[in-house]
Amino acid sequence: MDFSLPPQIDEIRQRIRAMIEERIIPLESDPASYDEHENIRKPLLEELRAEAKAKGLWALGMPQERGGGGLPMVGLAACYEEMNRSIFGPVVFHGAAPDDGNMRLLNMVGTEAQKERWLQPIIDGKVQSAFAMTEPDGCGSDPSMTYTRAERKGDRWVIRGRKHYITGAAEAKHFILMARTGEDDRNGLTAFLYHADQPGWRIIRRIPIMGPEEHGGHCELEFDGLEITDENVLMKVGDGLRATQIRLGPARLTHCMRWTGMGRRALEIAMARVEVRKAFGSTLIEKESVQQMIGQAAMELDIGRLLTMRAAWLLDNGSLARKEISMAKVVVADALHKAVDTSLQLLGARGYSKDTVVEWMYRYARQARLVDGASEVHRMVLTNFLRRQGKDFFAWGAGRG
Ligand SMILES: Cc1cc2nc3c(=O)[nH]c(=O)nc-3n(C[C@H](O)[C@H](O)[C@H](O)COP(=O)(O)OP(=O)(O)OC[C@H]3O[C@@H](n4cnc5c(N)ncnc54)[C@H](O)[C@@H]3O)c2cc1C
Repeated sequence: MDFSLPPQIDEIRQRIRAMIEERIIPLESDPASYDEHENIRKPLLEELRAEAKAKGLWALGMPQERGGGGLPMVGLAACYEEMNRSIFGPVVFHGAAPDDGNMRLLNMVGTEAQKERWLQPIIDGKVQSAFAMTEPDGCGSDPSMTYTRAERKGDRWVIRGRKHYITGAAEAKHFILMARTGEDDRNGLTAFLYHADQPGWRIIRRIPIMGPEEHGGHCELEFDGLEITDENVLMKVGDGLRATQIRLGPARLTHCMRWTGMGRRALEIAMARVEVRKAFGSTLIEKESVQQMIGQAAMELDIGRLLTMRAAWLLDNGSLARKEISMAKVVVADALHKAVDTSLQLLGARGYSKDTVVEWMYRYARQARLVDGASEVHRMVLTNFLRRQGKDFFAWGAGRG
């Protein structure tokens, strides 16, 4: 068993680290770097994206012939973690949700024509994308509750329904939309592709949220006669749930990769402070209870990272890694909370202020236990696996998943 990183991946990781530390982290403390939704200002983002592209650090999970880095999931795990040591990192290197998961899905299951039309402009950074699945009082934790419908009318599909919390929708051009085409729970959903300029849909509102926002926010959408032709059905009619599983597995795991990096950074900020801050006759780091807090948080991040790496390796070896991804998602979401909360506590009042990015991270982190499957649902999935697999739940090797 070899836990080291291949040298060519480590070299890329080191170059990401250099750009994060030299170019991106310094921007976090300048209020002029932010837009009104607390994300990086678009013109500044475009400058940094050009730099990342020129350095060959762009869309690392996409095929090289399409302009990406061609890395396997294990390579992405190391690199995405490094990127998210800055809150601006993932979007600069084109490794942020939801584009990252949408690109992966389109690349895995799209036809060549669909890849040319829908995927390539996203890889190139010319358009943003969105994935529309969750509904008000319909599809949420349980996709079988999807009520947005696609009805066959002549040679096209006509969509009616509603979606909400659709990340990036206010700026996205390319949408992947999940709609009901049949009554069966497993084969009753279909994934469709549409362009923002098509008529028959609208954004009802950009939903205000607790944390900072991705570009394009989190929106509620209404569909009232959007027409989609057959060439823009992704996979086959009835394959929507399969498309969702193909997208969400790796997308959850890339969240884990990024969240580990964010948790590490939160601890780095705390460490810099407790090494110098004195109280009651010694620095904070010399106090045993502080050491317990930091050691625990660091250990939990590392546990999450090991689970993430195992799931990444399984994906690279052809498994769906469903239970391993669920485990990683639950553990890393909690580890992120622990790291950020520990950091904020040890910074004292400064942690609660906007003088460091820890406050930003604290508000952001709360979504980790909800998005892409609430932790309770992932634990339920794990129990279902345990009931089905018995002793094989704990099997070794690439036959897992
Ligand atoms: C910041 C953010 C971004 C998002 N981006 C997108 C996006 O781009 N596209 C998209 O389609 N959706 C998006 N979502 C929606 C997200 O995926 C859903 O919120 C999530 O799937 C949960 O669905 P729900 O909110 O309807 O919760 P519900 O299904 O109503 O569940 C509520 C709570 O009930 C509990 N629960 C549910 N089922 C079980 C169970 N079986 N056992 C025990 N407890 C259970 C859990 O605690 C859960 O949190 C986003 C959400 C947020 C907050």
